[in-house]
Amino acid sequence: MPSRESLTGGCLCGQYRYTITMDDAGMKQASHCHCRFCRKATGCAFLTCLAVPLPDLHVASGTLQVYHSSPTAQRSFCPTCGSQVVFTYVAQPAVVYITIGSLDEPHSIQPSRHIFADNGILPFDLSLPTHRQNSDSPLL
Ligand SMILES: [Zn+2]
Ligand SMILES: [Zn+2]
Repeated sequence: MPSRESLTGGCLCGQYRYTITMDDAGMKQASHCHCRFCRKATGCAFLTCLAVPLPDLHVASGTLQVYHSSPTAQRSFCPTCGSQVVFTYVAQPAVVYITIGSLDEPHSIQPSRHIFADNGILPFDLSLPTHRQNSDSPLL
């Protein structure tokens, strides 16, 4: 039986906290979504979400507010700081999609695909200089 790992996360202000449990295969169930809705909801070029079976999400504190972004999907965010933490399909209530940016340590997640790539800001230039921090603005 594959080993299961616990990952913790939460919104920016810390009111909403959660733990998810998953195995190695689960870590790969993440997609970079470039759809218009994900871009608008985050203000970012794309949103990366991890599919998690609902029973594997354990809410430790806080309550999220739900925004129905389309007839088929809803996005749940912290009413205090605005962090989007959860995405769900109305027709697929047994699975929640956790925004990997909300994880405390997202390094173990291995996104396996880009979706709605035609709608986004592609192609990415992977040859751009990479910095471990932003020396122009060190205080975030
Ligand atoms: Zn918050
Ligand atoms: Zn999307």
